[in-house]
Amino acid sequence: MAQEKRYVEVLLPLKMKEPLTYRLPSGWEADAGTWVQVPLRGHPALGVVTEVRDSAPAGVNLSSIEPVAALPDHPAVTPEELSFWQSVADYYMCTAGEVFRAACNLGMQRAILRPAPPRKRKEKKVQPPPASFTLKDLSESQQEALGQVKEGFGSKKPVLLHGATGSGKTELYIHLAAEQLQAGCDVLYLVPEIAISKQLQQRLEEVFGSALKVYHSGNTVPQRMAVIDTLRSDSTPRIILGTRSAVFLPFRRLGLVVVDEEHDRSYKQDDTAPRYNGRDAALVLAAQRGAEIVLGSATPSYEALYNVETRKFAKVELAGRYHGGEDPLVEIVDTNRARRLGNMDGSFSRKVLKEMAATLDGGKQVMVFRSRRAYAPVVQCDACGEPARCPHCNVALSYHKFNNTLACHYCGYHRSFTMRCPSCKEPALQERGAGTEKLEEELREAFPDRVIARFDADTTASKTEQERLLRDFAEGRIDILVGTQMITKGFDFERLALVVVVSADSLFAVPDFRSDERAWQLLVQLMGRSGRRGERGKIIVQTAQPEHPVLQRLLNPGQVPDRPSGLLAERKAFSYPPYVRLICITVKDKYEGRVWNVCRLISEAAGEVGIGDIAGPISPAVDLVAGEHIAQLWIKLPRTRALAGTKRALHGRIDAIERDFKGHTRITVDVDPS
Ligand code: ADP
Ligand code: ZN
Repeated sequence: MAQEKRYVEVLLPLKMKEPLTYRLPSGWEADAGTWVQVPLRGHPALGVVTEVRDSAPAGVNLSSIEPVAALPDHPAVTPEELSFWQSVADYYMCTAGEVFRAACNLGMQRAILRPAPPRKRKEKKVQPPPASFTLKDLSESQQEALGQVKEGFGSKKPVLLHGATGSGKTELYIHLAAEQLQAGCDVLYLVPEIAISKQLQQRLEEVFGSALKVYHSGNTVPQRMAVIDTLRSDSTPRIILGTRSAVFLPFRRLGLVVVDEEHDRSYKQDDTAPRYNGRDAALVLAAQRGAEIVLGSATPSYEALYNVETRKFAKVELAGRYHGGEDPLVEIVDTNRARRLGNMDGSFSRKVLKEMAATLDGGKQVMVFRSRRAYAPVVQCDACGEPARCPHCNVALSYHKFNNTLACHYCGYHRSFTMRCPSCKEPALQERGAGTEKLEEELREAFPDRVIARFDADTTASKTEQERLLRDFAEGRIDILVGTQMITKGFDFERLALVVVVSADSLFAVPDFRSDERAWQLLVQLMGRSGRRGERGKIIVQTAQPEHPVLQRLLNPGQVPDRPSGLLAERKAFSYPPYVRLICITVKDKYEGRVWNVCRLISEAAGEVGIGDIAGPISPAVDLVAGEHIAQLWIKLPRTRALAGTKRALHGRIDAIERDFKGHTRITVDVDPS
């Protein structure tokens, strides 16, 4: 008689290296993927069986093995999902349990453990999606591009679709998605953020109706569970519009993945493990499921361009804009020169103010971009020269005029503003620089009859407030919108004719090897905001560095290099991504000495597992936040090999070091930091 299989290995949604062994009561059935409720330190926890075995692992005290408490009634996790979790964990140097947690958050775990009592379901008839969807006819160039995308799919490659904002990329995705749904396959349509995708959602709803489901972290647990249930239990093909965590949905027949705005850094989760990039996880998912994948952008990431260069991706160009119109005019204003000639009026050059007036008089709208919020990003003492600093962080405090406070943008510390310098006690603190709040004030003075609004973290605490401001601007109730990065994406603004960048220099000054790439992407995205519907828009960039390569490149926005040239060549020369893979290890502790000590131990461990190229420890630009000292180690790995073994070994060593310093030192590992 075959021996009954009585032990299960259970993966828990925790930072735990190995699954735990539990006993399966006789008569109970479980397989890999079965959900189980198990006791964990006296509390019920949700787990997933990874393996069923006949005997307990050797050397384990049998009486210490606790039994599985219950088998929640929820469709099992498939082997494909489990292996996807494991590959994400291996790549990002975290545990499968942490990936489990990203796929199924605490609320969802509770919902599976204690399913809501079956409510009387409203007899909602499940509408099968229509056999055909009403699609727009594609233009000739769109048709050609669609053909090329399919050719790329035919050669089993991910496709990078490069086209300006308004070229019709979304229209192509809709055509591709419709074909998949008709063939009975699911479609995953990834966007970086949902708040700015309302217009896209409406557009997809119009075409796909009930076949469209939306999945993002703003959903309630029941809403999320409903999407999961639909995918697991009914066989109607769906198109899911979602943010990065949608890669963990239980697709049954995934036919196509669309990664919209693939360059967007919001795809990267960097606050908690798994610190994964939704775009890259989607590439792995598509490869594992044999699904087609298209990544689209007007400003492709250097990673995507690199993959085109090495022939891993196929690249398709979608030229022009659907509604016609030339590329926006780009003008660069040299602020140093303007200042010398007395042509600056506060933060704006006279010329810019004149152009703004003309645009507004023509019934059009203006957008003003500044990368710093607050009234003054810094206040500095005229007597001793010291800036006012946060007492808990190594950063300058920003002055917010509307509530007369000095605030730290890192830890949230704030106090009311007084002129008294915290260092020398003289009453001599003065504002330096102009943030969005100050610009808004200057614009109110310059254009007293116009409606001016500000869009930044201070004015848009809630998503509804964000949506309201964007809608007001889109519908013409605001003449000038001043804002930070948050205004660069999202809604279509039909009457937006002029975009003003107040200081491009602060974009170039970011201490990050990606700052040029980011600055270029941001400026092109801003440019794409203006001049929709066939009219030529305009972007004016104020800068003290008119010769900066990013600005020179902006003057030729259509040119995206296929091969390393200019900015990309620099990355190659200095061995930065995409030519190598980076791993950033951050160590934080209340005591600075321990930070350096732990860094040294990690450095040694890295050497012992065969990693040669490790830089640091270095102090990052902000090396003290909320009372914790911070240091970093940067590892460069060759791009050509997977190095799974090396990464696993290093992960194990770091884990051991962290355990030795448990409760004091925090170590985070970020693979492909963004
Ligand atoms: P992108 O995604 O590249 O920014 P969109 O797909 O949003 O471009 O297209 C820009 C605008 O042109 C949208 O308003 C879209 O509805 C319209 N458009 C694009 N292609 C077509 C088409 N083939 N037929 C009708 N309208 C189109
Ligand atoms: Zn602070």
